[in-house]
Amino acid sequence: MSAGLLQRGETGFHQDNDLAALILSFNDVTERLKQSHETLGSEVRRLREQLEEKDRELERGRRLAALGEMAAGVAHEIRNPLGGIGLYASLLAKDLRGDGEKHVTAERILAGVKNLEAIVGDILMFAGGAEPRCGRAAASKIAEEAVALSAPQARMKRVRFECGASLQGVELDCDERQISRALLNLVLNALDAVGAGGAVWIDAAMDRASEGLVGIAVEDDGPGIPPEQLDRIFNPFFTTKDTGTGLGLGIVHRIAEAHGGRITAVNRPGGGARFTLYVPQWQGTPK
Ligand code: ADP
Repeated sequence: MSAGLLQRGETGFHQDNDLAALILSFNDVTERLKQSHETLGSEVRRLREQLEEKDRELERGRRLAALGEMAAGVAHEIRNPLGGIGLYASLLAKDLRGDGEKHVTAERILAGVKNLEAIVGDILMFAGGAEPRCGRAAASKIAEEAVALSAPQARMKRVRFECGASLQGVELDCDERQISRALLNLVLNALDAVGAGGAVWIDAAMDRASEGLVGIAVEDDGPGIPPEQLDRIFNPFFTTKDTGTGLGLGIVHRIAEAHGGRITAVNRPGGGARFTLYVPQWQGTPK
């Protein structure tokens, strides 16, 4: 009898152990499933956000292309008659030389025409400027050129202008003229933003947007960009200036994209704005 009881007890003991092991492995599997579910969930969220970001970029690209096409059409139509007006205005200004007020008026018309020609040029540049003709270029030379070209504005406002040494030796694979133009736009904006006696720096960015790109950062100690405007400042014709065209940053964006680079804008923790232009680094063998 006792042997029979013992046998039943042992069987019960084994069954309990098996059940416990089963429950344990069930819990383990459930826990692992939960973890995989959470990982999958966060991966799906990340991919969805990426997709939404790409959708926004695509939509923005479509809008910009349509806007660019329309703007280019208008600019072309304006350019020819404007050329004629400019020609006659300069002949008139020449004829009226020495005729006091009349000469001043003709010169004012001429200045207005030149201003319009610059805007038309900006629109055409924005609407699909020439393909970049890339080659090896020194980043420090491009930065120094931007400093030299904007020196009169900097002097007028007594702005402290610094060109960091970290750009020395940095070589870019770019269309030098286009990147100079983009950097000059950023520097002129920074000079517009700072107050009298303010400061503007150009330096190499420490981070990389992605492998193969180097960043040139333009920073200022102005008021920075209101957060609600941060995603609109690259839109063509967006301006907060009385005499602005809102095309400067659109052109920078266009040039960066045409190079396979990018442009970013952030507010500095200490105040002011930082724009970083990422350009392909020269990959050839240095001579
Ligand atoms: P524009 O200079 O003709 O206004 P941009 O496209 O160059 O056109 O600039 C668009 C807007 O971005 C400016 O009007 C200004 O509001 C803002 N912005 C650009 N650079 C800066 C800066 N360094 N600091 C603050 N705001 C800036």
